[in-house]
Amino acid sequence: MTNKNDILNLRIPTKENPLRILMSACLTGLACGYDGTSYGKYPSALKLLNYENVKIIKFCPEEFSFGTPREMCDIYGGTGFDVLNGKAKVLTETGKDWTEGMIKASEKMLEIAKNEGVELAIMMDISAACGSQVIYSRNRFAENKVYQIGAGVSAAQLIKNEFKVISQRDFASLEILYSKIDPNHIATENLKDHHETEWYKSYFKV
Ligand code: SF4
Repeated sequence: MTNKNDILNLRIPTKENPLRILMSACLTGLACGYDGTSYGKYPSALKLLNYENVKIIKFCPEEFSFGTPREMCDIYGGTGFDVLNGKAKVLTETGKDWTEGMIKASEKMLEIAKNEGVELAIMMDISAACGSQVIYSRNRFAENKVYQIGAGVSAAQLIKNEFKVISQRDFASLEILYSKIDPNHIATENLKDHHETEWYKSYFKV
């Protein structure tokens, strides 16, 4: 898991040599969500679009393989890593097998990350493609929906290939990032990354 030290160790970027950040496209405001929306606004991530010393690369893996709008999908039998290892599947809400398309999309995201020399990825948590800390286990529409610790397929592909990945809910890490890129940023103390929150600790009993 990418930790705060990884963010601390990122270089100080300049306008001439911006920090290259790959973002889930919906986090940048693109309406690529399954329902044709961007799932609302996430100021913790959106603010990054305002900096000249940051280059944002946007990609939506699910749109790449399945278009928008599309069905909602979840991982059955494990996490994104298990999907990549052939041990778990991605199924849509109506039971279509999207495993192959999700793997292809993750490979495209990896190709983009390599070609662009990406230094950090910020991805939408909970998504079966982009989640990096928490995802659903099986059908999110089930009466007793269940969360699991783990990454979605595209996030897993990036992590497996040693890219740094955080989510829009990793507020402590994002705060360190803003301090790096903005000399005028006034840091807020006591922010937490998603895995440090009370909800996470109590739900997963960690
Ligand atoms: S696949 Fe990723 S980028 Fe696309 S809508 Fe879902 S969370 Fe956003």
